[in-house]
Amino acid sequence: MSTETEDVDLWRGKTGFKPCFSTNETWLQIRKLGTPCAWGKGIWFSQATPKFAFMTWIAARNRLATMDRISYWNQGVDSTCVLCKAAQETRNHLFFQCTFSSQLWEQLVKGILRNAHTQNWDDIIELISVSTMERKKTLSLRYAFQISVYTIWRERNKRRHGDSPMPLQVLLKLTDKAIRNKLSLIQKKRVKGMDTILQFWFSTRL
Ligand SMILES: [Zn+2]
Repeated sequence: MSTETEDVDLWRGKTGFKPCFSTNETWLQIRKLGTPCAWGKGIWFSQATPKFAFMTWIAARNRLATMDRISYWNQGVDSTCVLCKAAQETRNHLFFQCTFSSQLWEQLVKGILRNAHTQNWDDIIELISVSTMERKKTLSLRYAFQISVYTIWRERNKRRHGDSPMPLQVLLKLTDKAIRNKLSLIQKKRVKGMDTILQFWFSTRL
């Protein structure tokens, strides 16, 4: 008789592998292990929201299940972008070449970036990775980037699963509100150099 035991997923924690998933412990592990590349510090920054940073990290490694990648294994699937219905869905199209997502991105960050504003993924990654800008500007940009990636990917998934589309203006309002809440919290926590970050955000609204 064999003594069969069920396979369980083990997650690496502070004290070795264990069967339960801890967002906090996994976050700390990834922060330590996942930063040798140049863009690491643009994603794993100290005030980041773990679920947004995690999704952006997957996108940065081009590991999201975008339709160009799915159609590579599964020929015959419709790979048209569900947001604009006018181009093939790729990581770079979604973030933010797409006529739908580019508007959300522009509304959120054009007031911060002005002439440096770009819809090109690689250029955005470069912008968030260098910290030559003022600290509150860098943080606002990094946070807006991650929440935009998260919001667009979630809206894309909902539409793909048949949910009714959320209008751009509603998405924009919700995203802007979430950013303001976060910046307000950072300001209240008295994070160094962030004492007027909320006013900075307001001053960059178009
Ligand atoms: Zn599109």
